[in-house]
Amino acid sequence: MSERLETDARATPCRDEPRQVAQPRVLKGRKASLGPGVTLYRMLPRRPLRMVGAWCFLDHFGPLRLDEGGRGLDIAPHPHIGLHTVTWLLEGEILHRDSLGNECRIRPGQLNLMTAGQGISHSEETPGDATGRLHGLQLWLAQSETDRHGPPDFQHVAELPTGELGDGRFQLMLGAFAGRHAPARVSPPVMAAELRFGPSGRLDLPLETGFEYALTALDGTLDVGPQSAPVGTLVDLGCGRDHVRIEGRVGDRTLLLGGTPFGEEILMWWNFVAREAGEIQQAREDWMGGERFGTVAAYAGDPLPAPAFTPGLRKR
Ligand code: MN
Repeated sequence: MSERLETDARATPCRDEPRQVAQPRVLKGRKASLGPGVTLYRMLPRRPLRMVGAWCFLDHFGPLRLDEGGRGLDIAPHPHIGLHTVTWLLEGEILHRDSLGNECRIRPGQLNLMTAGQGISHSEETPGDATGRLHGLQLWLAQSETDRHGPPDFQHVAELPTGELGDGRFQLMLGAFAGRHAPARVSPPVMAAELRFGPSGRLDLPLETGFEYALTALDGTLDVGPQSAPVGTLVDLGCGRDHVRIEGRVGDRTLLLGGTPFGEEILMWWNFVAREAGEIQQAREDWMGGERFGTVAAYAGDPLPAPAFTPGLRKR
C-alpha cells in the first residue's frame, strides 16, 4: 500500500526501547483516506507509540461496500525500501502486481508478504470484477540492518496454521503463538495472529515476556480489564507479560501483534524505511529517475510520483 495518504511528508523518526507497561493503554488511531470512499485508521506509527517490535506501520481500512459508489483501491506503482509489507484481508480481494513480475489476487485468510530490501515497486488494485465489501489491514515490518540491503522478494501463503483458544479460535500469520508456527520466512522475531471470540466472549492469550505486544479490534469493541478499545484504537500492552485476558462479542475478530523490541533507530519517510536522510534522498531520486525499483509493466497507468523531500531530518 502506498503512503500518499500521509498528509505531511516529513520523516517520522522512530525509536523504541524495551517498554514495561503496567496497565494496558488505549491509543486512538488517526482517521485518513486511501482514495475516494476508502477511509482507514492509522494505528502505527502514532506519536506515543512508534513501533511494536519491528512492526512500524498499521492501517485498518474499510469495511466499504463496492456497490455504493466506492471503486475500491487503485494504488499506482510506488517503491519501497527496508521493510516487509503484510496485506491481510478480512473481506474482498486486492490485485497485487510487483516489479519482480508477481501478479497475485490477495484473498481473506491468506498471507501476502513482500520484502523490499534494497528496492521493489508494486501496485494494489481492487479487481475490475470485484463486488461486495473490502476490509483489511496493511502492515509494515522494519528490516534489520543485516537484512535491509538484501534482494526483494514476495511470498504468498494460502494455508496458515489455525488453532483453538478456549472456545475461541485463531489464525497465525507470522511467527509463533499458542503452540503453532507460521511458515513464512521473515527475519525480525515477530508474530501476528487474527483472534476470534467464541460464545464465552473471553480469550486468554499466552504471551512471551520478551515480546512487546499490541491488540486492535477488527470488529466491534475489545475489552482489556476495565478498558474498552473499539475499532480504530490500539491497545499497547508493552512487554514483560506472560498472558493477557481479553473480552469481546462472539464472532468478533482482534489482531494481536508482537515482537522483540527493535533496537535500531529507523527513519520512515513516504514508503521508505531507512536509517539516514541521505539514503531516503537517494531512494527518492532513484525512483523519480526510473532506477533501482524496476517497473510494474502490467499496471495501466502512471507510477506515483514521490512527494518533495524535506532535508535536515534527524533521528531521535
Ligand atoms: Mn505499498
